[in-house]
Amino acid sequence: MTTETQKETLGFQTEVKQLLHLMIHSLYSNKEIFLRELISNASDASDKLRFAALSDGTLYEDDSELKIRIEFDAEEKQVRIIDNGIGMSRQDVVEHLGTIAKSGTSEFLANLSGDQKKDSHLIGQFGVGFYSSFIVADKVEVFTRKAGLDAAEGVHWESQGEGEFSISAVNKADRGTTIVLHLKKDETEFADGFRLRNLVRKYSDHISIPVEMIKQPMGGEENEEKEQEIEWEAVNNATALWTRPRTEIKDEEYQEFYKHVSHDFENPLTWSHNKVEGKLEYSSLLYVPARAPYDMWNRDGARGLKLYVQRVFIIDDAEQFLPLYLRFVKGVIDSNDLSLNVSREILQKDPAIDSMRSALTKRVLDMLSKLAKKDKEKYASFWKEFGQVLKEGPAEDFANREKVAKLLRFATTHTDSAEQTESLDDYIGRMKEEQDAIYYVVAENHNTAKNSPHLEIFRKKGIEVLLLSDRVDEWLMSNLNEYDGKTFKDVGKGDLDLGKVDDEEEKKQQEETAKEFSSLIERVKETLGDSVDEVRVTNRLVDSPACLVVGAQDMGAQMRRIMEAAGQKLPDSKPSFEVNPEHPLVVQLNDEADVDRFNDLTWVLFDQANLAEGGQLEDPASYVRRLNKLLLSLSK
Ligand code: ADP
Ligand code: MG
Repeated sequence: MTTETQKETLGFQTEVKQLLHLMIHSLYSNKEIFLRELISNASDASDKLRFAALSDGTLYEDDSELKIRIEFDAEEKQVRIIDNGIGMSRQDVVEHLGTIAKSGTSEFLANLSGDQKKDSHLIGQFGVGFYSSFIVADKVEVFTRKAGLDAAEGVHWESQGEGEFSISAVNKADRGTTIVLHLKKDETEFADGFRLRNLVRKYSDHISIPVEMIKQPMGGEENEEKEQEIEWEAVNNATALWTRPRTEIKDEEYQEFYKHVSHDFENPLTWSHNKVEGKLEYSSLLYVPARAPYDMWNRDGARGLKLYVQRVFIIDDAEQFLPLYLRFVKGVIDSNDLSLNVSREILQKDPAIDSMRSALTKRVLDMLSKLAKKDKEKYASFWKEFGQVLKEGPAEDFANREKVAKLLRFATTHTDSAEQTESLDDYIGRMKEEQDAIYYVVAENHNTAKNSPHLEIFRKKGIEVLLLSDRVDEWLMSNLNEYDGKTFKDVGKGDLDLGKVDDEEEKKQQEETAKEFSSLIERVKETLGDSVDEVRVTNRLVDSPACLVVGAQDMGAQMRRIMEAAGQKLPDSKPSFEVNPEHPLVVQLNDEADVDRFNDLTWVLFDQANLAEGGQLEDPASYVRRLNKLLLSLSK
């Protein structure tokens, strides 16, 4: 490398500075991962070159043997990672090694708590990549030259990992990138052949190109300077992991490979590796991460699988292979049938992709149901992280509705706990013999659901009800009409029909009560006027005097609130008002001769019914005034 020209000193983007600072502290106990990150980058760079060379073979510059080399020098306290991949132009360097281009970066940084352990998880998910070199080095140099450019267009980047970096032009004959780590005083352990070999095997065995180190002379000292020819040897396995037979791959290898493709630091929760033969031939290796990524709710966030065609890397984040509700799945797919010059646009149109997509979707759902059977605890942790996303499934993926439904987990009156642990199969297993529907209640939050007046009759009869309180729940249920031949029924909507659970005797009784109270019903209806659709005597209440019921086809309160919050104008829909003839307040109302008091009590019961469901009163001041009037009349 000759004289440096055009030297420029630039500041890191603020986010990089923050990340560097946080990372060095939070990831210190995990410092050896810097090597994995740098090898991972070198491998990506080789993938990219191979892909670019498909359309322009000259990019190989007579050197198509892609490899990564690791050198070290104990005296100089240096480790060097050298690749002959795609390399970087000056602009690439400024962009990639001076900023963080990921969307949502500042939100992510704002979420860090200062608690090292928690932060290290978060930072791990975010992916620190290249910047992790500064955990062990107090100076990092990068020499790089992009494939296809002149030797004179090499770039030298240098930084101490604080506020700034410098960049200058340099002559670089070989294409690719060399990273030079100047190890901190306390990190010289890494300038050691044995240590480095172990790390390569531990973290990067699955990299598909050779990671080479200088062969150790037999019996001699590794760094002994002898007048003998240097011999390089591959330290890693150097075959693409997914092409190897499943039985020969260790769990650790699957885990390390996951970290390479996902840029995650943690082990995955589970994975599924398959080779498909027949009309379409492809291999897939799919992973479920242990934690939701920081940008899971960002619709533009990266998602999808890494696509290879005949072992050649084609694109990252190929989102065509899985539906949106499985966007948390990471992994690779390697097709033998697609053309090497396939593009995103072509993927969108290719009918072969559709059949791969449905096969891969099935794989993921099978992998999840296997996990649910095999390891309840792991499945519970999956549900905590990704349950909300999976709930989008029934709406998006009609064909797999039943399969997704099987994977859902709910809170129910069986335990009354807020934890979502019960499956629909659990529920069905506990159903009463005469019961033919799956009952559920939807409310703003768990406590409102759990204490809903609508549950009273169900609790009395010992019928289990699903307690739904996630934002998406009402929408989810509107897309799930049936499961295992049983219909779903919202206990807060329409007539209460307990089907065969009610016996004839009870039904007759109810009809008689209704007759008895018919004049009360008339008076209440007159009082409430336009605020209600219908007034009825009910048998669904035990402890409460009254409740509101939404029409069977009407939108529930939760959905209404969400739509209204989103600025939607909705047609008015009036609830029915049901009163409990057994309740002393209703009996009292029935006997009330004073018109004023009748009106007050009726309105108070109506407003209370609304409040008990987590609703908001249109005119809270009148409610308070009426209630106080009634309270005062007590003391008279
Ligand atoms: P990530 O790998 O997640 O993109 P990194 O921080 O590891 O993030 O790397 C940032 C970017 O720097 C890479 O996306 C790549 O564009 C560039 N880069 C890093 N190392 C190399 C390399 N050895 N060869 C070419 N480009 C590289
Ligand atoms: Mg990287």
